Amino acid sequence: MMPFAGQRVAVVGLGKAGLPAARRLVEWGAEVTAWDDSEKAREEARRVGLRIANPAERFAFDVLLLSPGIAHRLPRPHKAAEAAQAAGAPILSEIEFLFRAVRHAGSRARFAGITGTNGKSTTTALLAHILESAGRKVAVGGNLGPPALGLPILSDDGIYVLEMSSYALERLDRTHFDVACLLNLTPDHLDRHGDMAGYRAAKARIFAHHGPGDVAVLGQGDVLTASFAEEIPSRVIPLGPGGVWWEGRILRDTAGPITDLTECSTLPGDHNAQNAAAACAMAMELGVPRDALAVGLRSYPGLTHRQEVVAERDGILFVNDSKATNADSTEKALASYGRVVWIAGGEGKEGGIAPLAPLFPRIAHALLIGRDGPEFAATLASHGVAHEVVGTLEAAVPRAMALAKRGDVVLLSPAAASWDQFTGFDARGDRFRQLVREALG
Ligand code: ADP
Repeated sequence: MMPFAGQRVAVVGLGKAGLPAARRLVEWGAEVTAWDDSEKAREEARRVGLRIANPAERFAFDVLLLSPGIAHRLPRPHKAAEAAQAAGAPILSEIEFLFRAVRHAGSRARFAGITGTNGKSTTTALLAHILESAGRKVAVGGNLGPPALGLPILSDDGIYVLEMSSYALERLDRTHFDVACLLNLTPDHLDRHGDMAGYRAAKARIFAHHGPGDVAVLGQGDVLTASFAEEIPSRVIPLGPGGVWWEGRILRDTAGPITDLTECSTLPGDHNAQNAAAACAMAMELGVPRDALAVGLRSYPGLTHRQEVVAERDGILFVNDSKATNADSTEKALASYGRVVWIAGGEGKEGGIAPLAPLFPRIAHALLIGRDGPEFAATLASHGVAHEVVGTLEAAVPRAMALAKRGDVVLLSPAAASWDQFTGFDARGDRFRQLVREALG
């Protein structure tokens, strides 16, 4: 299969996705030139036989595949993007190439796209799981999991389930999601999109090429998301009455209850009720029978580092929510449990943990680590919350075990980035899991 025969593609950004993408495009007949600003990354690309050249110096390509982490507009366009724009060449994302390759192969496999400010990964993984447990052929990726250009070409009955960041959405052209979901829209990434209007416009691309035969699943938690209903031609399924919604922990649609979410231990909290509603709405549109949904929801294994249950002992639950690198995400975790022994700290964000004050009554005791542990401690002290600055995870875990009582949750949800002590949120979460399991023996 040679979907890109003779096309001259510049690939810029040779990270986890960029490098395999470049190689796949070569296999698919494209004339690929690769570039990364880091010499180390270029060296690796050279080693696997890619041709290296800087497209910013001479742009002689039909198209630029730019890694999602690299800006083409704001805050400042990358030089390669400027060169592409000057040459009138489109800047595309991996997903666009995947879509074209699938259609070029003659496959009518369907595409389901999920976007929003929060909940993308969970909804994507959950939808894929529900589809798989109902026996569908699925390829899942995008922002989550394997690079999109590493996914297989599915036949007509296959379904692509893709997590779409606003960055990837901005770089689509022909890609058409048969079923598209926008979960929510709150201020984020404004450095890249300029303002909320710019961010909303990027997210609107999830509905590109939609007609009355397509389905849009729309969150109802904020006005901005709900307002799309008036401007898109698609059939809208609201994540609220009339579509799929939740009353307490009962997930339901107009036909009645779908499942009791208290039986889905990997989907705690109201935010996950929204993700579950979205995944169910999409799954039904993709042909999963309504009565097969509960099985998928209950057996969903959950994602690592997002309220991941790592152990349970003597009625104490140990939860790794290392992905929560800001107060907003931690708020969701704290709101999901009753009495919490909370491990937090690291490189805090502006405003620290002050926005979490309404949830402080749930904190039996806080154990603070990392650079901004002392600052978090000051906030807790001013609200009379019991706490200790313990400095490291190694100190926090045994102390949490000593403090926790039956029915408590020991929660790592740092409300801070990890860079001061770890190589990333995943390394921090892995360490927590390891410490807990070692201690429990
Ligand atoms: P994303 O991929 O969009 O970053 P994730 O599914 O990885 O989203 O969830 C990241 C964090 O966002 C979660 O730990 C939780 O705190 C919060 N979150 C998840 N789903 C939602 C939702 N539907 N609405 C609001 N916040 C959410």
